[in-house]
Amino acid sequence: MKSAIYPGSFDPVTLGHLDIIRRASRMFDKVTVCVLDNKAKTPLFSVDERVRMLQKVCENMPNVYVDSYYGLMVDYARMIGAHVSIRGLRAVTDFEYELQLAQTNRMLSNNELDTIFLTTSAKYSYLNSSGVKEIAAFHGNISRCVTPYVEEKIWEKIREREEAAEKKN
Ligand code: ADP
Repeated sequence: MKSAIYPGSFDPVTLGHLDIIRRASRMFDKVTVCVLDNKAKTPLFSVDERVRMLQKVCENMPNVYVDSYYGLMVDYARMIGAHVSIRGLRAVTDFEYELQLAQTNRMLSNNELDTIFLTTSAKYSYLNSSGVKEIAAFHGNISRCVTPYVEEKIWEKIREREEAAEKKN
């Protein structure tokens, strides 16, 4: 069975991520989307919230599983028996970081884990989670960036934050 892992922060999952997941699901028997708990970033959504959103947007893809992990991605991949990591490439600016990450992971896994890059669909090449969060913070239109379910969750979160800030003042 060909099994792959698609690791990332997914804070939150965008249509760009979803496009990569859909395409990967046609190439592999099983794709595990793994939310990595990256302590270096301050997330908008908790890991559990991100997992729930991913589960919801992937529910029509039977060979896609969603999980989370606190630790090294290579350890998780070994645990589930995945030998391929999927990453998305948007622009040349992604390349240097992604190349380094792929080589580091190959070294850490003793050559057991390889990375496959899927290039973004042109219509999503500008999309990233940080941008979506920034637009949402100023109440801009994010309907072309995420699914309606994720959009609803973002507005809920923004409202929560605004109410908390109001109470403080
Ligand atoms: P990370 O914090 O690990 O970069 P992200 O959630 O930002 O996690 O992204 C996970 C993966 O999805 C990365 O390989 C990233 O390049 C890719 N990706 C993000 N947005 C897009 C997009 N719009 N099109 C294609 N790939 C994307």
